[in-house]
Amino acid sequence: MQKFDNFINGQWVAGASYAPNINPSNLADVIGDYTQADAAQLDAAVNAAQAAFPAWATGNVQARADALDKIGTEILARREELGTLLAREEGKTKPEGIGEATRAGNIFKFFAGECLRLAGEVLPSVRSGVGVEITREPMGVIGLITPWNFPIAIPAWKVAPALAYGNCVVLKPADLVPGCAWALAEIISRSGIPAGVFNLVMGRGSVIGDPLVNHPGINAISFTGSQGVGGRIAQQCAVNLKKVQLEMGGKNPQIILDDADVAQAVELSVQSAFFSSGQRCTASSRLIVTDGIYAKFVEGVKARMATLKIGDALAAGIDIGPVSSRAQLEIDMGYVDIGKAEGASLVAGGERLQLATEGFYMAPALLTDTTADMRINREEVFGPVASIIRVKGYEEALFEANNTPFGLSAGIATTSLKYATHFKRHSQAGMVMVNLPTAGVDYHVPFGGRKGSSFGSREQGRYAQEFFTTVKTAYTLA
Ligand code: NAD
Repeated sequence: MQKFDNFINGQWVAGASYAPNINPSNLADVIGDYTQADAAQLDAAVNAAQAAFPAWATGNVQARADALDKIGTEILARREELGTLLAREEGKTKPEGIGEATRAGNIFKFFAGECLRLAGEVLPSVRSGVGVEITREPMGVIGLITPWNFPIAIPAWKVAPALAYGNCVVLKPADLVPGCAWALAEIISRSGIPAGVFNLVMGRGSVIGDPLVNHPGINAISFTGSQGVGGRIAQQCAVNLKKVQLEMGGKNPQIILDDADVAQAVELSVQSAFFSSGQRCTASSRLIVTDGIYAKFVEGVKARMATLKIGDALAAGIDIGPVSSRAQLEIDMGYVDIGKAEGASLVAGGERLQLATEGFYMAPALLTDTTADMRINREEVFGPVASIIRVKGYEEALFEANNTPFGLSAGIATTSLKYATHFKRHSQAGMVMVNLPTAGVDYHVPFGGRKGSSFGSREQGRYAQEFFTTVKTAYTLA
């Protein structure tokens, strides 16, 4: 079995042990053995990043741009291979995997350009003869902690801006899916970026998470993952006075109004609730449907669900692969039971599937007769489980859409300009979709939420500079 090591200070180094990376579509298929770092190795990575920082922070921006562009070019050239690896380790379908790899390549290309666009401001001083300049400088060494559900796009959208704006990084990917992060590190290792600027440290959050967050050599933390872990990291960063950015869970609403195009509403709801096995932070798990369209919509969703092909993520013609792990499968099936126990009706799917290979397969589940106070409508499941909340009209739909501790993405299906406009203004989510799935966003504009979904400044697009730089105000007597 091939062994994959950490990348520290420009060298590939073995950690304390190795763990297998297993294909969730076929448990007999082991992708490789990936090393597991301990706290001492993490220390070496942070020290290497600190040593590399002064030269990188003040280095030539054309060289930086060229390196990021080269990384993006290689990812795009290898998108099919990387997308296949992604599908094999995470369980997204191969086309979804290729799409995610493409996004990662485009992100590096975008931030290659951003290297040359980091602007400041010059203002008149209130004091005669004095000039005021406002500039942005890198934060220092940044710890990047990523989840398993976007194993190449999320590392890309943290690493690319961090490097573009002159920071050094220590990336800790999710231990469930280290393959894509390792492949990204291997591409970065040949890009001309100096030793120590980028470091990959693989391992379990419970072993190296705390040492990374609390390390005195780490100046800021960018985290994407669950609310529980994110909240704990925020507390640690508050104690240590570190800048922190958290992107966490969602319980995203999709409103369907009486005047919606039914076929369009059905398709976008099925896509955002169940594709990628519902394992997207922007997936819509609460379908809020008004009385007049209710029966047609529910029948339409059930009919579309009956056509979904669930199978091996690498097989052709598959709509939905397995869920990512045994633990996630148990959580998903558990929430179907919780919903039923709370009084919901399971009207489609919700059972474990036995296919040709042993994998974590589940038929997407649709629950009706649900109310806003049920756990199934308040807690993130993070699987192919969606529930329907029936409402009388737009006002009640808007109330229920916002009636959640989360606020990441929210959608409305309507042909009414009045309701679409009102919803864009009054939704309490960070991202709002009109007649589009709640999942599926552009790579060059801000991404993030409100309430319990996000903390700190936005990721992606030029808004990423809020987190990855710090502002300096300089006064000069002319
Ligand atoms: P998770 O919180 O379990 O793990 C995320 C990362 O944190 C992993 O790398 C993990 O090893 C690490 N970690 C675990 N314990 C840690 C600790 N004590 N200290 C530091 N790091 C630690 O999340 P997950 O299961 O990998 O991902 C699923 C979650 O991610 C869902 O809640 C989903 O909504 C969320 N997510 C959010 C976004 C977004 O941008 N809002 C995007 C994708 C996923």
